[in-house]
Amino acid sequence: MKKFLKSLVEKNRGISELGNVANYIPGLEKSNKHALGLCIIKTNGTIYSIGDYDVKFTIQSVSKPITLMLAILDHGEEHVFSKVGMEPTGDAFNSIQKLETCKSHKPFNPMINAGAIATSALIKGADNQERFDRLLNFFRKISENETLEINNDVYLGEKRTGNKNRAMAYFMKGEGYIDGEAEDALEVYFKQCSIEVTAKDLTKIGLFLARGGVMSNGERVVSERIAKIAKTLMITCGMYDGSGEFALRVGIPSKSGVGGGIMSVVPGKMGIGVFSPALDEKGNPIAGEALLEDLSDELSLSIF
Ligand code: GLN
Repeated sequence: MKKFLKSLVEKNRGISELGNVANYIPGLEKSNKHALGLCIIKTNGTIYSIGDYDVKFTIQSVSKPITLMLAILDHGEEHVFSKVGMEPTGDAFNSIQKLETCKSHKPFNPMINAGAIATSALIKGADNQERFDRLLNFFRKISENETLEINNDVYLGEKRTGNKNRAMAYFMKGEGYIDGEAEDALEVYFKQCSIEVTAKDLTKIGLFLARGGVMSNGERVVSERIAKIAKTLMITCGMYDGSGEFALRVGIPSKSGVGGGIMSVVPGKMGIGVFSPALDEKGNPIAGEALLEDLSDELSLSIF
């Protein structure tokens, strides 16, 4: 199996040539365009780690379903979905368009930037420090990695340059979809995007969801229902305006990030983590998507 997985990684590594690493957030441009890593952990504990599986990168949008789970734990499903919807947009992940043009002005879903900022605003805590600490501890717990930390340079870089996200946060605040202050929501959001992980960390979180919200020691951290919400939004919106095509090509609930990560969940079977920093025009890891398509075909992993 390891040999077979290695051959899939090597086959797809060249596809990175067709993409580009993100450079709109200072620091991300330093990634090696040709890196490709894969980690798989089955629910029986078998682990496969190939290529650049232990290279650190910032989690970026892969953080969104994780924050969503803690927001629901903190406030319940009804309140969370009164602030953010659950429908795909068909627009880019950072689009402001539908916020302004749709009548309700409610962000469409928690996997795009607007909806994720509204979700970050829902993390409970006396102040921003406590809010982010609670969130970071939740990431550490479900990744079973107590050493997770933020990359401070990437955080400060995005805080300084993230004006489109800032515009959306203030707009949503004006429309009543941000609990608390817009700047506080942004601080939590920029920090969560800057958490450094490896493909292996993402695999652990995928495995947690594959087990329906249960850690490998058997501890239940979120309900089946909350895990189901995260997986459902991943398959419908997790690859932004590429989600429909990805559902057909791969058919595995997945969440991408512009740092190059993809976290995938084969329910009841395995967690999968990918690191592939060269992105396609929609901001999804280009070689990573091709690798997951091969994996899905070869191992019959599509849920459809
Ligand atoms: N921090 C990034 C942003 O807000 C996350 C985007 C992504 O990974 N798609 O633009």
